[in-house]
Amino acid sequence: MPELRLAPDPGPGFSPDPAGWVPAARRVPSPNFDARPAHMPVDLVVLHNISLPPGQFGSGDIEAFFQNRLDPARHPFFATICQVRVSAHFLVTREGEMVQFVSCLDRAWHAGQSEFLGRPRCNDFSIGIEIEGCDDLPFALAQYHTTAALVRALFAAYPVRAVAGHSDIAPGRKTDPGPHFDWTGFAAAAGLAPALLPYRKDLP
Ligand SMILES: [Zn+2]
Repeated sequence: MPELRLAPDPGPGFSPDPAGWVPAARRVPSPNFDARPAHMPVDLVVLHNISLPPGQFGSGDIEAFFQNRLDPARHPFFATICQVRVSAHFLVTREGEMVQFVSCLDRAWHAGQSEFLGRPRCNDFSIGIEIEGCDDLPFALAQYHTTAALVRALFAAYPVRAVAGHSDIAPGRKTDPGPHFDWTGFAAAAGLAPALLPYRKDLP
């Protein structure tokens, strides 16, 4: 992995529009969302990994899953999850493409049972970004660049105070984004102060 450096200003295409949609993202609307609680500021970004089938990339099944059209006949694992109703705001593919499923203004269903600094139900106040990958393979450089640029734009648009991994807000239950995610490099690429990554004790 080459050293990650501060990504250039991502430009206006990464900034969410007034309705909460990012113009540079390919829009694939998911029905799996609802309203955030009233007067609930969006102050957390949660990073995940996902791959469908597990360990495989580029199948299009993640989009199908978030749109409730996963074909249970395609893979044995799919039969066990095809009734699950989940989503995330964003997916960053292996090629670094951005896909958006839910408006940032709405509550996507990505975190499940979770807690951040004593506050439960992280879906209420967070934006979820799925990075296509798994716990036992490195992520692609293009994914760091896109995710960092997106997170920079989200910090500019909303009162975000921190970035956490799913494993940080649901410890013992979730392991993503996993040991291969380079938090230090990501922080550098996104221009984030270490204090904004409260769980990364390894940062200087
Ligand atoms: Zn997750």
